[in-house]
Amino acid sequence: MIPIIKPVMDQREADAASRVILSGWITQGPEVAAFEKEFAEYVGAEHATAVSNCTTGLHLALLAAGVGQGDEVITVSHSYIATANSVRYCGAEPIFIDVDPVTHNMDPALIEAAITPKTKAILMVHQMGMPADLAAIVAVAKKHKLPVIEDAACAAGAEILWEGEWEKIGRVRGDVAVFSFHPRKIMSTGDGGMLTTPHADWNAKFKLLRQHGMSVPDTVRHGSNQVIFETHPVLGYNYRMTDIQAAVGREQLRRLPGIVARRREIADIYKSLLSSAQWIGLPQEPAYARSNWQSFAVRLPDYADQRAVMQAMLDAGIATRRGIMCSHREDGYKDSSHAPLPHSEGCQDRTIVLPLYPQMTMADLELVASTLKKATEPK
Ligand SMILES: *Cc1c(COP(=O)(O)O)cnc(C)c1O
Repeated sequence: MIPIIKPVMDQREADAASRVILSGWITQGPEVAAFEKEFAEYVGAEHATAVSNCTTGLHLALLAAGVGQGDEVITVSHSYIATANSVRYCGAEPIFIDVDPVTHNMDPALIEAAITPKTKAILMVHQMGMPADLAAIVAVAKKHKLPVIEDAACAAGAEILWEGEWEKIGRVRGDVAVFSFHPRKIMSTGDGGMLTTPHADWNAKFKLLRQHGMSVPDTVRHGSNQVIFETHPVLGYNYRMTDIQAAVGREQLRRLPGIVARRREIADIYKSLLSSAQWIGLPQEPAYARSNWQSFAVRLPDYADQRAVMQAMLDAGIATRRGIMCSHREDGYKDSSHAPLPHSEGCQDRTIVLPLYPQMTMADLELVASTLKKATEPK
């Protein structure tokens, strides 16, 4: 069976976890601090805060942006439902706009029409690790003085061209980026998330809110030779990452450049193996984007039935996924008001995601490509 993804982990991650377990300090201590510092260095961010997962990170990012009861946040429906849910956690409403059908990312041209007096922020996604058109989104946001939150759940290691220089997603040209370390993403800590931001005050807020709003971090209290009484001046949450996870994350971060390089190699192999099948739509990087290929989604020809193609792949021992979901089609969002979202729906209904992980062999890739071609070829 060829799965959709496999974590790249071995004895190094196991040793890192066991070192922490035996150290006597197992949550939000020195390993979390080191992971934050190393992750910030890797993406080129000023500040980083580790959290329990990307969804809790998005919640904190929206709170820092001032999103609250009755506000609106412009975002995409075509994303994992956590994107929209994080807006609801704040008592606010996601306002869905459509995506570009090629990149699966927010169409910046649609933002202005969705802005109302209630709009508090723009929550955009670098979908499947493909950088969105951040420059265009930030330009509209600046004009309307709206903060930009980047859902970078899938985008660790992805790169964007900014004023002529390639830089990592997470360097943050909006206000904050939020990453996921769920096993479906390209580096994993089991579960986990990371916020990066250029704003020192936002970062301080993330660190306060992730630990019950407690005025003194554990590390400071434990390191002090004076008795310290902590206070809880604001409503906080328990969104901590453990040191066990962070130690694993540090090992994963060391592997990340290699993982991204290998994923790019595999994406190129897929493109060349599938190039003879002109009926299959291949993913394309815009000039400003270098994907990390967290997912490789192909567009099926109009005559092909998505479920039947996926079943044919499964029968051949190959796991696939249908296109990324649309939140507005789920029960909790059915009544939300938005303009028509034809490209979002098309991306969900007309694409499938192929297996992609560094351990794939040439034989695996050839089997996926030949099975897909056979399952979709014109009759
Ligand atoms: C995976 C994912 C999330 C949620 O990440 P968790 O770490 O599981 O909370 C949010 N947004 C997008 C776009 C994702 O792909």
